[in-house]
Parts: sequence; structure tokens; C-alpha cells
Amino acid sequence: MSKSIGIIGAGIGGLHLALYLQQHGIDATVITDRAPDDVASGRLMNTVAHHSVTIAREDALGVNHWDDPSIVYHHHDHFFNMPDGPLLFRGAFKNPSRAVDYRLYLPKLMEDFSDRGGRIEYRSIQDNDVPALVARFDLLVVSTGKGPLGRLFQHRSEHTPYSQPQRLLCVGLWDGVDHGGPDKPDPRGVTLSVSPGHGEMIVIPTLTAEGMKTALLMENVPGGDMADLVSLNHDADPAAFRQTILDRLEQHHPHTYDRIDTQRFAVAGQQDLLQGGIVPTVRQTAASFDDGKFAIALGDVHSVVDPLMGQGANMASYAAFELGQAIVEAVVFDARFCEVVDQRREDRVLAASRWTNLMLQPPSEAMGRLIFTMSQNRELCDAFTENFNYPERQWDHLASEKRTHAWIDSHMAQAA
Ligand SMILES: Cc1cc2nc3c(=O)[nH]c(=O)nc-3n(C[C@H](O)[C@H](O)[C@H](O)COP(=O)(O)OP(=O)(O)OC[C@H]3O[C@@H](n4cnc5c(N)ncnc54)[C@H](O)[C@@H]3O)c2cc1C
Repeated sequence: MSKSIGIIGAGIGGLHLALYLQQHGIDATVITDRAPDDVASGRLMNTVAHHSVTIAREDALGVNHWDDPSIVYHHHDHFFNMPDGPLLFRGAFKNPSRAVDYRLYLPKLMEDFSDRGGRIEYRSIQDNDVPALVARFDLLVVSTGKGPLGRLFQHRSEHTPYSQPQRLLCVGLWDGVDHGGPDKPDPRGVTLSVSPGHGEMIVIPTLTAEGMKTALLMENVPGGDMADLVSLNHDADPAAFRQTILDRLEQHHPHTYDRIDTQRFAVAGQQDLLQGGIVPTVRQTAASFDDGKFAIALGDVHSVVDPLMGQGANMASYAAFELGQAIVEAVVFDARFCEVVDQRREDRVLAASRWTNLMLQPPSEAMGRLIFTMSQNRELCDAFTENFNYPERQWDHLASEKRTHAWIDSHMAQAA
């Protein structure tokens, strides 16, 4: 059977799929609007951490160029800025996670694909280009991220509870924030800092082209004290921007504020800030065309989540492998093929979306108990942390209050 696959988009979804197919001897063409140099020199797109399941897929693809123990992190520190006193506790991963600036990561994977004989065409695809691409390939995969091409795939309103962003993001790479490290008393970790009613901040040690920096991913609740940071203009007055951030961190995220060297604290580079918001959206797996052919949604096109739980890219990589394997095994690309792809990846994709959406809400009584128990029970917190690799396992424990209580009870019984 002829298997010529067209992949629109060279993000992690498109590239992991392209590299997987290439490795399995299947003809794949990537069509994307940005050349490696444009990506490398562009604005910060995200602050992505890859968990060990994704790093294992990079090993399998032969693209783990950042296998350096000095840049990984091993744990999450949870900090809650509670009115009656702070709550601070740690959960560890079994295997470390790692954040590499996508302006380094994606161009390197594009280079890998090209060097191994892969074809990348550079152009921007519009809606009216799609039918010709469907006709050209045996299967078309759309992995163009949050952009308008995603509208090809029907919106699944039953899995899309929000029509507005639930957090207003102010994201940047910064100098002057201590995040631990091999040469420090504390090993490198990510901090998940919560200011109830105002939002969260995720502090991520990140490898960039300029060395290790700290990503501050501020997830600010609309109407809260930090919400205005989404439109605070850095370039108009960098000193005022920096001072405003310092003041807000001192008030809302003091655990991180205490780790800042105020003399050195500054946005790392001119392009290192990102502000905006994401509407979590789930779409259908496939779109059908008149000639009996199909296009498949991958990555953010299929399901885009708020970055709070760090799931989007890990999920896109997982889905790329599931889709890749289905393509390798396929005898025909028909409606049944699309159904099989959907079933194989749906549990994880939906779990990542549901879990993230749950965490965007004020904590339920069961969630409050989970947080408190994790602060007392290291094994429970380690299990919660490890499940960043396996969102479907996390969702098994969080899908209802009963399940959450049962999970806590089982850990309390073990500890007794
Ligand atoms: C601040 C922030 C922090 C995040 N942190 C994490 C994290 O810690 N962990 C995690 O797993 N996820 C995280 N995410 C989510 C993650 O960035 C995305 O889920 C992931 O990058 C999506 O990959 P993708 O391949 O689907 O799309 P993208 O990476 O968006 O790639 C889309 C590709 O399509 C191309 N393209 C777009 N439109 C067209 C067109 N019309 N024609 C041709 N080409 C086109 C683009 O140039 C690009 O190459 C974060 C996101 C943000 C915003």
C-alpha cells in the first residue's frame, strides 16, 4: 500500500511524527511556514518541560541532544501562599525532567530530519490549500498548533468547558533567579507556587542558547492582583516592568522572591517575554474530504490545554508516536483507521485536558485534602509528581471526589 504522508507544521507534534515515520521507512513530507533560523531567532513561544516519557521517545528517535545530567530537574516544590502561613512540600520524579528552549529544540530536530534525507517545504498553508494537499498525499496530518487551520476539525464542546482563557499569562526567561543545581546545596527543581485567588507561577530551570535561565510562567487569574501583567509593557519601561514583577512576586510568590538576586534580576533577552491567554479546546481526531480521504489532527490542533500542568507538548509527542505506529500498521487510511487512532490516544489526551481544566478551578474539598495530605505524606506527593508523565493515571485519581478521597485513604493506610 502506498503511504505518502504530508505533515503540516514543524512543532513537536509534526516533527516527532516525521522522525518516527522516517525511522520506519515511511515517506513523510513536512510543510511548515518557518525555517529553522526564523524559529531560532524568533520570540519565546512557550517554556516547555519534557518529562521522562518524552525524553525516552527522543532517545528512541535518536534526537536526545541534551542528555546532560547537569541541566535536568528531579522534583517539584509546591508552595502555597496561605493567609495563615505558607505550605511548602516536595514531590520527586522517578526519572528527571528537562526544559530546553524550543528555539534550540525545534530547529535541531528539523536539521536531524533533513540530514537523514527528510523533505521540508517552507510555505504558509491557508484553508484553500488543503484540498490539494489532501489529494497529493495518502494521508494529511495537521499539526499547526493554535492557529486557524485547526478549524478544519470539529470542535468537541462536551470536552471544552471554557470559551475564555482561565489564566492570563505573563511568561519570560529571567536572569537572577536561583533554581538549585548540581553545584548548589539544593538539586535543581521546578517550583509550583500558588497564590490562592490570584493564580500560580511555575518556575522552570531552562537551557537556552545563552545557557541556563529561569522561566517564570505566571498563570494569573482574571480579576486577581496579577492579572494586569498580561498587558504590562516591558519595552516601554523595562525598569518599571522589572520592579512591578518584583513587587508582585514579593507579595504573591514570596518563596520565589526569596531566591531572587535583585541586582541581577532582569528579562534574559529582548525576545524572551510572552503574554496572552489560551482557551482550552478539544477537537475531533479527523476531518473527511469528498474524495474519501482524511486529515488527522495532531498536537494542539487536536487538544490545546492551558500550560498550568505542562502537558501540551508531552501529549503531542505521545500522540505523534501513537499515530506513527498506526500509520506503520495501516492497510488502508479510511474512517476505521481514524477511529483506531482516536481510540489509541484519546485516554491520555482527554485526561491531560480534564486534569488541567480541573486544576484551573478553585480546589474542591477533596482537592484541598489532597494538597494537605501531600504536604504530610511524601509518597503521595511523589505519586502525584510522577503522574505528570501519565495524565490518565492522574485522572484515575482525580476524576471524582470519591476517587480522590480513595487515593488519599489508600496512602494514609500504607503510612499507618
Ligand atoms: C507558556 C507556555 C508554556 C508551556 N509549557 C509546557 C510544558 O511545560 N510542557 C508541555 O508539555 N507543554 C507546554 N506547553 C504547551 C506546548 O508548547 C504545546 O502544546 C506544543 O508546543 C504544541 O506543539 P504542536 O506541534 O502541536 O504545535 P506548535 O508547536 O504550535 O507547532 C506548530 C507548527 O506549525 C507551523 N504552522 C502554523 N501555522 C501554519 C500554517 N498555516 N502553514 C504552515 N505551517 C504552519 C508553525 O510554524 C509550527 O512549526 C506550553 C505552552 C505555553 C504557551
